[in-house]
Formats: sequence, C-alpha cells, structure tokens
Amino acid sequence: MKLFAPKETCAGERRVALVPAAVARLVKLGAEVEVEAGLGETLRESDAAYTEAGATISHDRRASLGSADMVLRLHKPPVDEVGLLKQGAIHVSYLDPFNDRPLLEALAAAGVSAICMEMIPRSTLAQKMDALSSQANLAGYLSVVLAAGQLGRILPMMMTPSGTIPPARVFVIGVGVAGLQAIATAKRLGARVEAFDTRPVVEEQVQSLGAKFVKVDLGEMGETKQGYAKQLTEEQLEKQRQVMAKHCAQSDIVITTAQLFGRPAPVIVTDEMVRGMRPGSLLVDLAVETGGNVEGSKVDEVVEVDGVRILGYSNLPGHAAVPASEMYASNLANLIEHFWDKDEKGFRMDPADELQQGCLLTHGGAIIHESFKPAASDDAS
Ligand code: NAD
Repeated sequence: MKLFAPKETCAGERRVALVPAAVARLVKLGAEVEVEAGLGETLRESDAAYTEAGATISHDRRASLGSADMVLRLHKPPVDEVGLLKQGAIHVSYLDPFNDRPLLEALAAAGVSAICMEMIPRSTLAQKMDALSSQANLAGYLSVVLAAGQLGRILPMMMTPSGTIPPARVFVIGVGVAGLQAIATAKRLGARVEAFDTRPVVEEQVQSLGAKFVKVDLGEMGETKQGYAKQLTEEQLEKQRQVMAKHCAQSDIVITTAQLFGRPAPVIVTDEMVRGMRPGSLLVDLAVETGGNVEGSKVDEVVEVDGVRILGYSNLPGHAAVPASEMYASNLANLIEHFWDKDEKGFRMDPADELQQGCLLTHGGAIIHESFKPAASDDAS
C-alpha cells in the first residue's frame, strides 16, 4: 500500500502530517511511504531525514496524489486536488465537515474514502488517534506562555529584600483539554488560577490541579455522550456572564477556550466585561476561529480596548510546530497501525467498525456518516 504526504498548502502553516519517526513506524508495518520534497522544511527536517526513515521523495505532487492508495495531510485538501485522487483511495486529514459540504460532496463523487480527524470518537480506544486533543493540549500550554510573554508583569509571587510582588491572577473559562493544560501551565509558572466550565464533572479536575473552581448555578447543564458541552440558553449565558464579569475584572490574564462541537462558540466575555478589566490585563481567545468567546476578538489580531488587550491567535499549535507535528503524525500512525492488515499489507476499510463509523465520512461514492448524509428527502429528489 502506497502512502503519500503532500506539503501543506494552507498559508502560514508550519505543522506537517508526517515526521521521520512516524515514517519509520509506517515503513516497519510494511507500507510504502512517499513524501513531497521539502515536506519537513518548516520543522528543519531535511528530505534526507525522511529517506533515512524509509520514505521516498516525490518531486511530482500531482502524479503522487494520483497514484497513492492513502493520502495523509493535516488540513483539508484543496477541492481542485480531490479530482486527482485515485478512485478508492483513502484520504486522512482535518475536513472541517460542518462548514464545507461541497468538499464532502467532491470527495464522495471522486470515490474517495475520507477519514476526518475532527471526528475521531472520544473513546478510550481512540484516544491515541485523537488529534483534536493532541493539538488542544499544546494550544492550552501556548496560550499561557504567549500571554505571559506579553503581559509586562511576572506570574509567580516574588519575595525579595526589595519588595514583594504578588502572583498574577489567571482565569480560565472552558476547561476541556486546552483549558486543563492552560491551568497546569499557569500553576507551574506560579500564578493564582481560577477556572470555570459548564460541565459539572470538571470541578474535581480543576481542584486536582490546585486551581479554584468558580461556581455558578446555571440549573440544568451536563454534557453530550461524546463528552462535549451542551449549548446554554440565552438566560443561562447571561447568568454566567454576570459571575464571569467579577472574576475577569480581578484577573491579569483571562483565557477562554469554550467551544461547542460543530457549532459557533458562545460569546461569554462581552465588551462591557472587557472594559471592566484593569488596563494592562490580557485576554487570549482560543475560540476565535469559531466565532470567539470574547466580543471584539479578531483572528490573528491584537485588539486593544481601554488598555486591555485581546489576543486572537489562530492556530496556536502551529507556534510549536515540531511537537505539534510529532503528535499529529503519531495520531495518524496509531490510526493506521490499528487498522493495518498484516497479510494484505494494507489499511483495512471497515465502515461497520465503531471507530470508522465515527470518522469515515465518505465511502463507495457516497457521504455515509450519519451526521452528514443527505436527508432522506434529498435522496428522493
Ligand atoms: P471543546 O474544545 O469542545 O470545549 C472546551 C471546553 O469548553 C469544554 O470543556 C466545554 O465544556 C467548555 N464550554 C462550552 N461552553 C461553555 C460555556 N458557556 N462556559 C464555559 N465553558 C464552556 O472540548 P474538548 O476540550 O475537546 O473536550 C471536551 C471533553 O471531552 C473533555 O471532558 C475531555 O476530557 C473529553 N475528552 C475525552 C476524550 C476521550 O475519552 N478519548 C478525548 C478528548 C476529550
């Protein structure tokens, strides 16, 4: 089976889908691995490092896309490259399926089996393939480190003969994978940390990291079967904002990570709340790419409101492209190893398998995933 990893085409992306260590694992399985020349440039990995790991180097992207049995990438494919893929090829990448239906239709029409990395199930079995988690973990870390570098203050308490500096206060809103790592990082740097999430199960996790959980009585809450947050009503959100306002006002750094899977992020910190914060303090909006948790945040911009800065970094994991690529490549290798058929020396497609049911969106010329299948009425027309 021939696997091919093309260079990413997304502007500014420094992460890649395959690193040499993952190539070596795949070659050991019995796969033939090809990577586009210069794939590792952004990581300072030479083509030679990939060949030493057992890959061959392609200087003809279109030909390699057309001959590969499986294409591995980070970002969704440009739609004009879908037609180059071989009928029956497997394509593995992020696909942004809730926002890009034309791409799903193109993949189905091309007879490609598309595995979507955002849809890897949140199960114990699939944890090692979960790219959303591996990347969110780095985003959480980087949100604190980048904010700390721009704050103009320090995070730990310092007691010196020249005086005592109190610890900075960090408030984390949304305690999923990124939020937990943000709390752990801020604690390690010596900050006083508070956090809030609408899922009640999170309280214990926050406390176990030595942070304080902010309590808000929002009535009925909970989480979906996949472990994601449920959407709040407008009244619940308003109640949440009232409590958050007080904690934002006394914080030096506010980090928001509150997302709703497949839907726009809720606006939690309003313009009025931002204006209620001390000049010099910072917000980092990790949800900026899905609409933002902070009113006024802008993708890849620093917005200043009455001396308070809102940092709207997109692609935070890209700021640590080496570990982010290592983890993503490892997620891919784990997925491939899991379904590798030793006798056939190939990836075993099995749309009935529970894990593949979760993440296989197109197969056999159709969109087959329950969440994206054309409605029955569309079928009839
Ligand atoms: P996410 O990125 O979708 O959301 C981040 C956080 O925002 C979540 O904790 C969510 O509850 C919270 N949130 C949503 N609306 C909010 C609001 N109005 N106010 C405050 N917080 C709000 O979530 P995620 O980080 O991808 O993970 C969600 C859960 O799934 C976590 O419990 C995580 O541990 C679990 N998980 C399980 C597995 C597994 O079992 N394999 C893998 C990954 C994640």
